[in-house]
Amino acid sequence: MKKKENPTGKNAPPVKVEERMDGTTVFNIPFPQDLGTLKTMSPIIIKHPYHVDYVHSYGQDSPFFAGLSNGKLLGTKCGKCGYTYATPRLSCAGCGQETDWVELPKEGRVHTFTTCFFGGEEFLKETPFHLILVEFDGADTLLLARLIGPQGPENIRIGMKVTAKFRRNSQLKPTDVYFVPAE
Ligand SMILES: [Zn+2]
Repeated sequence: MKKKENPTGKNAPPVKVEERMDGTTVFNIPFPQDLGTLKTMSPIIIKHPYHVDYVHSYGQDSPFFAGLSNGKLLGTKCGKCGYTYATPRLSCAGCGQETDWVELPKEGRVHTFTTCFFGGEEFLKETPFHLILVEFDGADTLLLARLIGPQGPENIRIGMKVTAKFRRNSQLKPTDVYFVPAE
């Protein structure tokens, strides 16, 4: 059989990708002679860093985050029917009218709550934590936020007064605002 020619030319060195020593470097994985035993092989489990630069626009929600970074909680209000959204909507769900930005009070009440003993990766290290739906005077919808302070769910009551607090260093995330029991 004729030896296969190197496609890059007779005298060029063989083409080979550079060995990498970063990330997951595998030196050896045991491999059976009998392929029939592969189905009983233990799963390969690896850990490697994963990074994504996520560029996206807050679009028309931008004023909400600008408010958070300035210690203001903003909702929207429909100029036509008066319905007020504590979780801002740019168009009224009731009548379709474009809404206007309004500042919400810093004090509200716990409408309902849940204590999370499991969470997404970002919040996993903070479990258990409390999530509350906050009701405000003058607003017709609720706002989902963290409640910081009470040790356990037995220390939270429906209707208890809570005060909005803002991260000093805004991250431009919904978690820039959280609530604590009102004094
Ligand atoms: Zn409306």
